[in-house]
Amino acid sequence: MDQDLIQMINVNKWYGKFHVLRDINLSVASGERIVICGPSGSGKSTLIRCLNRLEEHQQGQIIIDGTELTSDIKDVETIRREVGMVFQHFNLFPHLTVLENLTLGPIWVLKKPKAEAEAQAMKYLERVRIPEQANKYPGQLSGGQQQRVAIARSLCMNPKIMLFDEPTSALDPEMVKEVLDVMVELAEQSGMTMLCVTHEMGFARKVANRVIFMDQGEIIEQNNPEAFFDNPQSDRTKLFLSQIL
Ligand code: ADP
Ligand code: MG
Repeated sequence: MDQDLIQMINVNKWYGKFHVLRDINLSVASGERIVICGPSGSGKSTLIRCLNRLEEHQQGQIIIDGTELTSDIKDVETIRREVGMVFQHFNLFPHLTVLENLTLGPIWVLKKPKAEAEAQAMKYLERVRIPEQANKYPGQLSGGQQQRVAIARSLCMNPKIMLFDEPTSALDPEMVKEVLDVMVELAEQSGMTMLCVTHEMGFARKVANRVIFMDQGEIIEQNNPEAFFDNPQSDRTKLFLSQIL
């Protein structure tokens, strides 16, 4: 039987006494594209950050591609190689050029020869449509360009899973589309398994296999985009959608 690429089983997490994730059960098959939405503070970032151990869960199991996330650093390293992450605020190294940002991980972590790492970086920069920016520093780029560099940087590590945490919410409106277009292309052309926290509902309709709604640390509802948007079941989902659509 095919095992799901991501399994969260009865996952609970607290920040101090605050119960931030409540009995999360989530299975994601290889190639699935999931959009997670929900009010601010509902635990969306915490959930996806638990998937690469940027946060630790205290109860339940998280199993990624057959490896359970435990405090064993070897397991954490194995999983971090398979899971790429793109943040709201890009998190590029400001003192390195775009090309150096893209080749750092492949050279030092994956032990790729420099020439090969650079060739691959250029390939991904072409895919996100900014090869001409390779020798600039992040501070010389627009927000939309920096976010596309961040996406390319993750892809250079050849992850099996890509996590996106509100990748367009820090961008000026005119730059949102160029980043979403790159993400749509990635979804459609690569078969990449993607989990994306976003309130871009046009994006969700276009690429998601499943939309998940979270509130107060729980998964309240999940469905394919058509059913989710056109026929939400829970009152909380209806209220949320009425506020953002
Ligand atoms: P979302 O991404 O849905 O806005 P988060 O996962 O960021 O939600 O946060 C969920 C809740 O946990 C919020 O109430 C937030 O204030 C709280 N929280 C997040 N990170 C921490 C932390 N490191 N320590 C304490 N509380 C936190
Ligand atoms: Mg968040």
